[in-house]
Amino acid sequence: MQGVVGVYSGDNAIQKALNNLYGVQHRGQESAGMTAAGGNSMRTWKGKGLVSNVCRDLFRSFMHPDDYVVIGCASGENADKIALPPLEYESDRFKFSLALDGHVQNRGSRLNEEVVGSLIMEKLRGGTGIEVAIRETMRELPNAYFSMVAALLDKDERRSELVAARDAHGVRPLYLAMNEDELFVASESAPIDVMESMGQGIEQRQDIAPGSLVRRSDEGLTERKLVEPQHAHCAFEWVYFGRPDSVMEGRNVHSVRKRLGQALVETHSLRAAYGGPRKDVVVIPIPDSGRSVCVGVAEALGVTADEGVIKNAYLGRTYIIDDPEFRRIASDLKHNTIRDTVRGKKVIITDDSIVRGTVSESVAKNLIKVGAEEVDYLVSYAPIYYPCFSDPPDKHLAAAPYEGCSLAEIGELVAHSLPSIKEVRYNSPENVIDAIGLPRERLCTYCITGENPLVKTRAPEITMHDSSPED
Ligand code: 5GP
Ligand code: MG
Repeated sequence: MQGVVGVYSGDNAIQKALNNLYGVQHRGQESAGMTAAGGNSMRTWKGKGLVSNVCRDLFRSFMHPDDYVVIGCASGENADKIALPPLEYESDRFKFSLALDGHVQNRGSRLNEEVVGSLIMEKLRGGTGIEVAIRETMRELPNAYFSMVAALLDKDERRSELVAARDAHGVRPLYLAMNEDELFVASESAPIDVMESMGQGIEQRQDIAPGSLVRRSDEGLTERKLVEPQHAHCAFEWVYFGRPDSVMEGRNVHSVRKRLGQALVETHSLRAAYGGPRKDVVVIPIPDSGRSVCVGVAEALGVTADEGVIKNAYLGRTYIIDDPEFRRIASDLKHNTIRDTVRGKKVIITDDSIVRGTVSESVAKNLIKVGAEEVDYLVSYAPIYYPCFSDPPDKHLAAAPYEGCSLAEIGELVAHSLPSIKEVRYNSPENVIDAIGLPRERLCTYCITGENPLVKTRAPEITMHDSSPED
């Protein structure tokens, strides 16, 4: 997972890109980087750590006042510094730097950027224009998906431009905002809101359509459909990856999560079991991804929502630790409980997902220790049966052995494997799809349904006009 941003602006482009980069930090915390271009130069600055760490000395050593194209990324990649994104490429005529949020199958130990960037560069070297180069690359990698930002410097013309493109499936989000003079691209809409509230003028804002490319240079704005869209937006973006304050494909993440909470109450007839007003029941979220769901559940049930689990945010992402024992210890270290909230209560926890059951069991065990009478676990997502394309295929998934059982049975079986939890209740894939509010065929639900939208045939061809100025 990666957060990407791009800025074309004659007014403090680096600061604006950095501000937006802070706003997509949640999408990757292992490394960060920026490429800036202007005049006849392009420079990349990157390193391991959070945006605030990596970019601390950015302004002193890196900024040129005439830079007007800047891209950046906050990344889950943890390679050697040289190999971190963004990756820069150079030919006699061009410099090209790219960062992407996506996944290229069979890339081995190479970065996604390396596969995509070398294909694009090979075409640029052969004299192909950037639009056709990106289109051909998409067609050569039909099962790859990526939301890309790139800076392109034409050394002959001494001109830089911002390029952004989204694959035909649009698995990962990509958002743009602009005014007459400037273009901003970001993984999510939230940082654009922040810019606006800080006084940035924005005249138009929208998702970049799947299969489309956007370019901005001193010659103006170009938007082009490169390949026919085959929408397959990752459903988990609304459930977990996205910020609650972002809007993706017109659907606000927080509102979707509240609906997922309501759906859990309806599907499992929870009003009969817990409906308010009951003083002995409390709903508490696992921070942060369970928060919006908690509001939805509490509203639908008419019971109190409270804080009962506190996360130490400075420990970072423990989910990515491979060793189960170490991951359990990390989860124990990361979460504390509030005795006053839960003592003597039936505690309903809301969370986005159970993957291996590490967080759920670790938190529930501690709630019982401080006096919770029982712990029931509400999961806003559906049971996960298949590892995502970008995950290791051998990942242990608590629900995988039970595919084909009813939702209630799966809940029972998973609860049985987590000793501190009495009941586990999932949403169905249909609930997830309904809460998002997009048609099923426009979503990627592979991990919960096994339907793989990426193995469809190549994207249908689009004829691009030969008169396109760069071909
Ligand atoms: P588990 O502990 O069951 O293996 O993983 C589920 C927990 O990890 C949930 O609390 C979820 O919020 C958190 N989590 C963190 N990163 C991810 C991710 O990339 N995917 C999923 N499904 N859950 C994640
Ligand atoms: Mg969580």
